Amino acid sequence: MKVPSCPFSCSLTSSVSPKSDPVIRNGRFFRKSDSQWIHRFYCRCCKKHFSRSTHSPTYRQKKRRLSHPLKLLLCSGVSQRRAALILGVNPKTVVRRFRFLAAQARLDHHEWLTKNVAHNSLNDLQWDDLETAEHTKCKPLSVSLIVDAKTRRIYAFEVARMPAKGHLSQLALRKYGKRADERPKGWEALHQRIKPWIHPKAKWVSDQNPHYPRYLKHHHPLAEHLAVPGRRGCVAGQGELKKIGFDPLFSLNHTCAMLRANLNRLFRRSWCLSKTLQGLNDHIALYIQFHNHQLTSEVGKIAKSAPFHPHSKGAV
Ligand SMILES: [Zn+2]
Repeated sequence: MKVPSCPFSCSLTSSVSPKSDPVIRNGRFFRKSDSQWIHRFYCRCCKKHFSRSTHSPTYRQKKRRLSHPLKLLLCSGVSQRRAALILGVNPKTVVRRFRFLAAQARLDHHEWLTKNVAHNSLNDLQWDDLETAEHTKCKPLSVSLIVDAKTRRIYAFEVARMPAKGHLSQLALRKYGKRADERPKGWEALHQRIKPWIHPKAKWVSDQNPHYPRYLKHHHPLAEHLAVPGRRGCVAGQGELKKIGFDPLFSLNHTCAMLRANLNRLFRRSWCLSKTLQGLNDHIALYIQFHNHQLTSEVGKIAKSAPFHPHSKGAV
């Protein structure tokens, strides 16, 4: 077994001779929370003990076995309270672990983009907004998504507040006052974040939102943009999957339908609804990791060999 280097910022020089390794093995201990033997090390320079988990994100966590099943449940349409009941833990533990997992998922997604996706390599993208709400339908939220047209991977998302529309607008104004439209700020942040990975001449498909061309022109002036007219959903209440033979926005609409099927707070006709914007933000960040690496990984393999088409056998 290779001895790790000292994780503390010691100079590794002082009294130890240059020939001998300053870090030596120093026994092991049994970690009850995941039944593993963990090696302990000792640095002879800074005279400190450490193990491989000293600087890991899960350092001093007591319920390591909870993370994986909780992630699967939360990405499979189970509510946080029901997840607590199924796993036999306190709901507060579920909330805390959910936030931790979401923060980790965000870091992992960024690391995956940095390591596995070359700069200026994404060239076939779809962009659209999905609508939901926080606390009440009078306080709508907009989730802007950028999806790969071939692999259906979600590269970036942004959640923004928006004012209520239609018959709820008057009631919302009376009950909760004026609600700011934060979508322009969200679209700007969305494009800023993903810009380094996008090819300058990428092909973009979106619906006919009148604001989109402005952002695409600003961030990707050479890009090709196709705006397709909105169509009716194929099943009542299923707005995303369209009742047409060929949908140019298929990958994005399919991804939105998967979000609606797998995150309980996005179900249609559900009594689960986001309480805060942060909760929705965390839940989507967690889902994206699961979606990109488990639900669509097979599609990605097929897309590498042949262009993805919604009616081909690769469509899952
Ligand atoms: Zn040291």
